[in-house]
Amino acid sequence: MTKPVILCVDDEKLVLTALKSQLLHHFGHSHRVELAQSAEEALELLDELAAEPCEVPLIITDYVMPGMYGDELLVRVQTKSPQTLSVMVTGQATADAVGEAVNRAGLFRYIAKPWQENDLRLTVSTALDSYQQARLIQRRDQQRQALATIIALALEPDSLEQQLTKALTTLLALPDLAGARAAIYLPDSDGTQLLRQVQAGAEARFPLHRAPLSAAGCEQDPCCFALSYQGQAIGLLELQQPGFSPCQWELQELLTACADSLAGIIQLKQYHQALERQNRELEQTVQRRTQALQEALEQQARLNDILLEANQKLDFYASKDDLTALHNRRFFMQLARSELERARRYHHPTTFMMLDLDFFKEINDEFGHMAGDHVLQQVARILESESREPDILGRLGGEEFAILSPESTLEQATQMAERICERIRQTTLEFDGHEIRLTVSIGISEVQADEETIDAAMSRADQALYRSKGTGRNQVTITA
Ligand SMILES: [Mg+2]
Repeated sequence: MTKPVILCVDDEKLVLTALKSQLLHHFGHSHRVELAQSAEEALELLDELAAEPCEVPLIITDYVMPGMYGDELLVRVQTKSPQTLSVMVTGQATADAVGEAVNRAGLFRYIAKPWQENDLRLTVSTALDSYQQARLIQRRDQQRQALATIIALALEPDSLEQQLTKALTTLLALPDLAGARAAIYLPDSDGTQLLRQVQAGAEARFPLHRAPLSAAGCEQDPCCFALSYQGQAIGLLELQQPGFSPCQWELQELLTACADSLAGIIQLKQYHQALERQNRELEQTVQRRTQALQEALEQQARLNDILLEANQKLDFYASKDDLTALHNRRFFMQLARSELERARRYHHPTTFMMLDLDFFKEINDEFGHMAGDHVLQQVARILESESREPDILGRLGGEEFAILSPESTLEQATQMAERICERIRQTTLEFDGHEIRLTVSIGISEVQADEETIDAAMSRADQALYRSKGTGRNQVTITA
């Protein structure tokens, strides 16, 4: 690194020579001294030094010079190099000129000609210290901002690689790390070695493959910094630049803090990834359980349907005659009692009809019981088709049927009975190649208003039926 420069400006060569001699004597070990005989020359020299680049912590200038006075020069210098401090050495400056230089160009000190060497030494020494302090504060501030930026990256939604690349770029933008390059190594998938994940900095690239590194091994390499979390190594930060050494206390502190921040970013990302993985697994578990529950509910619904169907069958067989599907005797009597109560309450006419197939035993004997069953089923269908919707039909047993007709007079019941009688007489049933003809005898009674049970009406209808049987069958007999 080139030494920083103290720039002296005076139109008198003797003054410049004396200044250079004294300054080199006291500060030559750490600074160069450059001379300019005019303000214009000084400004040109500043541009050249800036291009090197070379720091100019201090300019010492005369006040009265041809072309441009010292205070004007200092204003220009302030614009070109704001950090540079200034000292004016003159015997001719007025208090106003000095005040102007202080106000406009931040003049650090004023020394009167002829000066005392010791006074010059103390003034320059103080100025250089002040400059160093200001530079230190500025660098600390830059480093603090860089670290704050790196820490904030942890909250960005970027991928880990993007976060680490941005962190390195931020770090290498610090003037103290100008020209350096950096890389971050993270453990491979099985955790046996560290692999380079991201890099930033100078054009030249790190080797593509790198021998296994242990974070502990970086103790021997001053340019490597372990990234560790709770005492466990989780990565490595490496910096490279010819002639670069982070051993300087400030940089060491900065890079260690940076390594801690990078470890925090990595750990936070891994924590988020683990959390996301757990969330995914949890969602899958919930989905599986929801599906299992859904299947269990569907199975339950199927079982319920089967149970409902079984109950319906049970109800059917409990109330129906399983051969003809008409009401069986027990259920018919139950319905008849309910109907009778309603008829008495509202004084509605109700009739009762008993039907018995003629010579049914002969059908069984001649054509078999299967034929008999077939006949009973067909007769049941005829009764259904000839009766009304509110009529209650039942098979009381064997070849005996009954019909209770609500809202029906004897006359209406008789018409229905005659239709049934005629229909059965006209019907030819076919079974197993045989033609079967048959007739029916019917007895009808009317339910009386003062009757509390169906038994009396049923008994009267039964007697009427016997009369039909006794007087030639195939006919309808009515009783009151
Ligand atoms: Mg002069």
